[in-house]
Amino acid sequence: MTLESQHIATQAVHAGRISDASGAVVPPLTLSTTFERAETGDFIAGRDIYSRASNPNRRQVEEKLAVLEGGTEAFAFASGQAATMSIFHVSGGTHVILPDDIYYGSKALIEQVYGHRNLRFTTVDITDLDALEAAIEEDTHLIWVETPSNPQLKVTDIQEVVKIAQRHSILVACDNTWATPFFTRPFDLGVDFVMHSTTKYLGGHSDILGGCVILNQKSAYLSEKFRAYHHLGGAVASAFDSWLLNRSLATFPIRMQAHATNAMQLASFLEKHPKVLKVNYPGLPSNEYHLVAKKQMKNGFGGMLSILLDASEEETKRFASSMKLFRHATSLGGVESLIEHRRSSEGIYSVSPPNLLRISVGIEAIDDLIADFQQTLA
Ligand SMILES: *Cc1c(COP(=O)(O)O)cnc(C)c1O
Repeated sequence: MTLESQHIATQAVHAGRISDASGAVVPPLTLSTTFERAETGDFIAGRDIYSRASNPNRRQVEEKLAVLEGGTEAFAFASGQAATMSIFHVSGGTHVILPDDIYYGSKALIEQVYGHRNLRFTTVDITDLDALEAAIEEDTHLIWVETPSNPQLKVTDIQEVVKIAQRHSILVACDNTWATPFFTRPFDLGVDFVMHSTTKYLGGHSDILGGCVILNQKSAYLSEKFRAYHHLGGAVASAFDSWLLNRSLATFPIRMQAHATNAMQLASFLEKHPKVLKVNYPGLPSNEYHLVAKKQMKNGFGGMLSILLDASEEETKRFASSMKLFRHATSLGGVESLIEHRRSSEGIYSVSPPNLLRISVGIEAIDDLIADFQQTLA
């Protein structure tokens, strides 16, 4: 791209643009796993070698992801979990601090896969900065931030966490899957790594499994280690998933705007409903995290919310399956609205209340989404 725009809507369409001999405006999908060498047998500069190491579609989307987050370099992985694992791995060390309602898969990864490798963790309510500081041990090397959190929508003050981390020379990683760079730019707030499950909002259509890690100037010294982990470990994003993700990213800013506008209206409706005990949405002025969210988030407060129903666990589950437009399914960030009884899908690691429903608000007409709740609540 020759024009270096600072506008996310332009970056989302153009960043990482590659030209092709045919003049194709839409990038061709390169499925070839291997690429021709020069007569001498040497690799040809600027060409790819083998698609585990690099592929044009993956390179393109990695460049776009880096630009969108304001980072220097991105690595596209086969899933969000593979991206998380790369950070646990490359950052080294022996003790990590995790938010108490971290995405359950990230914690399960340490417990079930890394537990035997001498990587300990402490969970803490990371929105409580005193508790965070108290949880730091001599060998703590990494603090994990996920904001708004899943599924309680707690908002962590990233800047304050970074201040604490810097006093103790600890790295900070931010899972920005829920906020996305449209609402929050963690690098501007001082973190070392940003990761995403691109399966969610960045992919946006519930048809790509992917993840990414993004570095900035501060963490660029780990670039070679991430590169080695990425293409030697081999959990790279496929050419087709990269192509789809690149295409999805073009509409990502306008999708996020629509998700946030709908979520705000739905949250306001639900807050007034007598059968809803609590709405967790940081955009609501009544929400306990509203002030931090207002300081840290721009363009809105995201498309996720959760509610506590005045109902038993069984009734709550039945409710989720009784809706007409909202599908009862896990995951989030697609154009379609989803609702989920979080405790059931989190299994034995769940700390979610039994009457909690997590809602991924889609981009449908808000009147229809509200009508669906109105009917089902009645
Ligand atoms: C889904 C999710 C992940 C894991 O990503 P996968 O693509 O499912 O591997 C990590 N963090 C958050 C916040 C998520 O929602």
